[in-house]
Amino acid sequence: MKSVCVFCGSSYGSSESYAEAAWAMGKSVADAGYTLVYGGANVGLMGIVADAALEAGGEVIGVLPQSLQEKEIAHDGLSELHVVSSMHERKAMMAERSDAFVSLPGGAGTMEEIFEVWTWGQLGLHKKPCGFLNTNGFYDLLIKFFDMQTNEGFMKHMMRDMVQVAETPEALLDLFRAYEPPSTPKWIKKSET
Ligand code: AMP
Repeated sequence: MKSVCVFCGSSYGSSESYAEAAWAMGKSVADAGYTLVYGGANVGLMGIVADAALEAGGEVIGVLPQSLQEKEIAHDGLSELHVVSSMHERKAMMAERSDAFVSLPGGAGTMEEIFEVWTWGQLGLHKKPCGFLNTNGFYDLLIKFFDMQTNEGFMKHMMRDMVQVAETPEALLDLFRAYEPPSTPKWIKKSET
């Protein structure tokens, strides 16, 4: 593992603990010697995670679509900033340049990004780990929903287990290092769940 992609809110959230978690994540990625890949903005938790990695001496790659360059003000201190022409290009480049994917607390954009890479893994398009940093139980309800989807026969146990969950960045990076991708395909019969 050489690089870690962090998806997170373009807002700060209502509790200081989210900013603290974003800072801890950026610092942990850099301290472990990994390159941080993220959305390239200087707003919300996105700006914090980048600042933390940079302050810890890490390399940070940002990928921002032209259409969002003004709304999500581009971070001007990054090791590399790629301004691309569409959201699709942004996500494709982030996926290519990253060896693992983390979702910090965030909104709909964060969900869309982590779900896309997780489902690509589910289809066998890549073998990289995906996980949630569960700061203050932020993702408890979502994780419960995954369990419900599994129990109701819409998600294979092996696929549910692809999603890594930890309360600290260090624990999540440890899970990523130990991760073994499933070898079976997504498509299953009800009797196999
Ligand atoms: P949010 O979690 O909604 O604050 O958004 C976090 C990041 O996700 C921001 O960089 C948004 O530009 C990005 N984003 C928002 N909507 C989408 C989408 N449909 N696909 C991919 N990224 C998105």
